[in-house]
Amino acid sequence: TDALRLENVERHYREGEGKLTILSGANFSMASGEMVALVAPSGAGKSTLLHIAGLLERPDGGEVYVNGEGCGSLDDDRRTAMRRDTIGFVYQFHHLLPEFSALENVMLPQMIRGLSKPMAAERAKQLLDYMRIGPRADHRPAELSGGEQQRVAIARAVANTPYVLLADEPTGNLDPKTSGYVFDALTALVRQSGVAALVATHNHELAARMDRAVTIEGGKIVPLDIGLRTAS
Ligand code: ADP
Ligand code: ADP
Repeated sequence: TDALRLENVERHYREGEGKLTILSGANFSMASGEMVALVAPSGAGKSTLLHIAGLLERPDGGEVYVNGEGCGSLDDDRRTAMRRDTIGFVYQFHHLLPEFSALENVMLPQMIRGLSKPMAAERAKQLLDYMRIGPRADHRPAELSGGEQQRVAIARAVANTPYVLLADEPTGNLDPKTSGYVFDALTALVRQSGVAALVATHNHELAARMDRAVTIEGGKIVPLDIGLRTAS
């Protein structure tokens, strides 16, 4: 079973009297443990695609399957539960809660899902150790560097062991060196956890280090030849 599958997805926006087609007959799938780069110019529809794949937005047609389960027929409450239990999000800006420590930020989604505090704390510690920020677990976001904040955000995104991780420019706000570190940590986590990661990025060097790259063209999701793989 694919971790994520989009089938014949349609998404159009009204534009004056006409319509703007973002996705039309779009198909895409991702296996567990796979890391796919989404590379497309601004305005091509990357956010739209991530929102549809993440069950934040309903497509105008077609179906989204998460771990084989079709999501179109779910009512809003069940979609929300499905999103919470099966999908993780990472954004360009970390959106960590400023008044909570790194550890608490990673514990919260687990406790919202019903895990006990000690169990959530244990898993949060493991994840922060894995992301190599264990020693900073008790710091608040403002006391962490940009790269550390993003690593906490990544740990939080996978805290509930999602099938799918959706990342929108996760290193877009970092300098190249820090960006490399955070990307390496993300890669290790994907390989270790088996989550399927779709990573929107403008950074071709990072895109070339993923398993494959796709772009959005004529409403379809199509393979993109990054062409750097053999160069590195
Ligand atoms: P990207 O993330 O690749 O920059 P988006 O998915 O944000 O692209 O947007 C794709 C296109 O759809 C853009 O031209 C944008 O202006 C348009 N768009 C996005 N959201 C809406 C909306 N809610 N209503 C109308 N047009 C929208
Ligand atoms: P980077 O070079 O990764 O951007 P910084 O220069 O921001 O890192 O920070 C260097 C170290 O100091 C990091 O380990 C960071 O966690 C720590 N640090 C940064 N700001 C604070 C702060 N306000 N309080 C405590 N530690 C901090």
